[in-house]
Amino acid sequence: MRTICHNWVNMHKYNIPSTMVFYLCQNSMLLQMKNIFIVLLLVTQTSIAQKSQINDQELKAGLKQSVEFLAADRLEGRRTGTEGEKLASQYISDQFKKAGLTPLTSQNDYLEPFEVQDGRVLLPATSLSIDKDPLQLNEDWFPLSLSSDIDKSFSYIPTNRKYPVFLFDLRKGLEENKDNPHFDLEEYIGNMCRDVIKKGTEAIILYNSSSIDDNLKYNPKSKTTALSIPVIYISKDIRQKYFTEKSIPSLNLIIKSENRVRTGHNVIGMINNGAKFTVVIGAHYDHLGYGEDHNSLYAGKTPMIHNGADDNASGTAALIELAKWIPSSELKKYNYLFLAFSGEELGLFGSKYFVDHSNFDLDKVNYMINMDMVGRLNDSTHGLTIGGYGTTPEWGKLILEHDPYFRIKLDSSGTGPSDHTSFYLKNVPVLFFFTGIHSDYHKPSDDADKINYDGMVKIVDYIKNILTKTNELDKMSFTKTREVSMASSSFKVTMGIMADYSYSGIGVYIDGVSEGRPAQKAGLQHGDVVVQLGDYKISDMQAYMKALGKFSKGDTTRVKVIRDKQEMFFQLTF
Ligand SMILES: [Zn+2]
Repeated sequence: MRTICHNWVNMHKYNIPSTMVFYLCQNSMLLQMKNIFIVLLLVTQTSIAQKSQINDQELKAGLKQSVEFLAADRLEGRRTGTEGEKLASQYISDQFKKAGLTPLTSQNDYLEPFEVQDGRVLLPATSLSIDKDPLQLNEDWFPLSLSSDIDKSFSYIPTNRKYPVFLFDLRKGLEENKDNPHFDLEEYIGNMCRDVIKKGTEAIILYNSSSIDDNLKYNPKSKTTALSIPVIYISKDIRQKYFTEKSIPSLNLIIKSENRVRTGHNVIGMINNGAKFTVVIGAHYDHLGYGEDHNSLYAGKTPMIHNGADDNASGTAALIELAKWIPSSELKKYNYLFLAFSGEELGLFGSKYFVDHSNFDLDKVNYMINMDMVGRLNDSTHGLTIGGYGTTPEWGKLILEHDPYFRIKLDSSGTGPSDHTSFYLKNVPVLFFFTGIHSDYHKPSDDADKINYDGMVKIVDYIKNILTKTNELDKMSFTKTREVSMASSSFKVTMGIMADYSYSGIGVYIDGVSEGRPAQKAGLQHGDVVVQLGDYKISDMQAYMKALGKFSKGDTTRVKVIRDKQEMFFQLTF
């Protein structure tokens, strides 16, 4: 009985029907045969075990090859729209081709180009002179980000007449709101401008006669849509010198700007089994380059390549291995669409483009699996975060919270800091795999030699298992979950913390603090839970992101954290 019990465990592991064991057990007449059978089974088991070991070795070698290629210095950090991104996309295309995947649209091309709006830069022609005196751009004056382009001369006429030019003092708004933490100056200016445009104003000139600092400047990264008229800011001195009660200054204003656009490329390959529904598997392959887009946590002055081995050469390597595996597997009930996204680090641009612009019918997607940072499995804890758990009731049946190998942290939310969010927002059930934030996150030190390849093998095998189980099931139903959106926001400031996105208590749990950044300087540490920033209560990640948007560089605020169940306060300067 014990032997059989023991055998049952092994057979279960290798998917040998348990009915066979009971048959062997019950029928004593077949003792002889049973012995032969057990010998045969042992032989089969050994060869299965050997075969799976060989498979795992091959899988590990494949993962290592891809991570090392993608995270090599030659690719210069795979920043969206660069030569490094191109080399990476070629590598992925080649791998897809070798695996037998077909391109989605054209005959030979796996690439899907998309544009990333990269803000608006002022061209050198931009100038302002008043009464023929040329003014110094950025010192005496500057256009606001919401200004239109223009090339025009006009006279300012004092405001008690019908005026085409509107001179506006920011003093009132700033003074009235100096204690209002919710005051957003740019929003205030935008509203005022739209209001006076309706009254027929042709240009707006802003100044600030108060002693309150307004921190305004031209922001080339601004994503605001330009208004229909020019909006400029002049210094206090210029205002006093030229715009007096008696004088009618004449202005000569030229604003010329150019939209900066980058082209990123998603890499897309399909396994078409002629099925009605498709399983989507994705991972982003872009990273930070030299940190030009200000999304790096590196504090040093010399620009360095951010290799992004974990983020997200690891997920891309896993994607490639799954693409190689599916054609040889038994999985035929669904089609499989493999997506390697670019533009993720800039705000999920590639995946957003795919869900909005590809002709792929998303109603025909069964579910989407996203892998982002799966290369740092901790060898002692085996902690694995699985997000999107709440996006279909089916996941609850397939994913066990107490896995025999992984310590699984479940996050029910369908949104999060990666590309599955784009699919979830189109009502597609999603799963998101993530081995956690670490001290090399978004730093040049996220290198290939720190990747846990054995851990990645375990994760790929785990995902294969899910793909196999869902091959037996019908198309999944979709359920909405609580929203935690942070990927699409852009901030003027950061605290320099690594937050635990799967933390479900009140506040934001700090998984780590970056060297030399505001949080570390203020004294915050791993394990603190941020519950208040200045006047803003921080209930969750979303509230945290919203609160961050209210601060500017140089602002000092009080941070309330919970540390070891105690409330503590720190002064933090952004
Ligand atoms: Zn990243």
